[in-house]
Amino acid sequence: MSTERVVLVTGGNRGIGRAIAERFVALGYKVAVTARSGEGPEGTLTVRADVTDAAAVDAAFTEVETALGPIEIVVANAGITKDMLLLRMSEDDFDSVVSTNLGGTFRVVKRASKGMLRARWGRVVLISSVVGLYGSAGQINYSASKSALVGFARSLTRELGGRGITANVVAPGFIETDMTAELPEATQAEYKKNIPAGRFASADEVAGVVAWIASDDAAYISGAVIPVDGGLGMGH
Ligand code: NDP
Repeated sequence: MSTERVVLVTGGNRGIGRAIAERFVALGYKVAVTARSGEGPEGTLTVRADVTDAAAVDAAFTEVETALGPIEIVVANAGITKDMLLLRMSEDDFDSVVSTNLGGTFRVVKRASKGMLRARWGRVVLISSVVGLYGSAGQINYSASKSALVGFARSLTRELGGRGITANVVAPGFIETDMTAELPEATQAEYKKNIPAGRFASADEVAGVVAWIASDDAAYISGAVIPVDGGLGMGH
């Protein structure tokens, strides 16, 4: 029954979002992805949307609802980094990261909640990061935007938890995508030393956890932060 549901993943054209979309397709869900560029994986409906633009988000949701039906599961995955030490971080670098990672989640989840309230069923999954709670030098904008998602999911749980809607945070550690490929080799080696698992993960290892938290088996879990970080955050 759950495999009939409609899922929307933001930023589903590459990286973690693409792996999440692929996983839901494999499980038989009806899957749409938003993308600014490129296309989602085979079997998905791709709609254009920049999550910093509320009108574009609204139009993308309407397109998906018309094509596939009401969106029951939303995965707010689209995100960016603009790393710099605090003293050299510009207002623009701060604002654009917060507006994409936190503001984008607000726009997407606000729009998704309308249909979920009507259906009295919904799953909201927010893709945060281990650095949201662990901290990371050079990532004040990014880590602040990611830790804010914890307060977001917990407040949403308090607002909508009585209507069959859950809201949870998945906090990946270091995952092999374009985002981490940008890190210098020496930095990657240094990070690996601190990860108890001793390795980075594949995007598919995040996708499996997202699929599970969106499933009927996870109906009684809400406001949780689920780490997928090889032990780096020790359960944060
Ligand atoms: P990538 O850089 O590979 O992909 C980012 C995705 O977000 C792309 O699809 C991109 O679209 C989309 N995106 C960025 N800005 C916007 C925007 N304004 N509107 C719409 N879409 C946008 O990143 P990852 O796959 O690595 O990361 C995915 C999520 O996981 C992010 O939220 C990230 O913070 C988080 N994460 C990643 C970790 C990692 O180690 N990789 C660790 C912890 C968390 P486009 O292709 O058009 O740019």
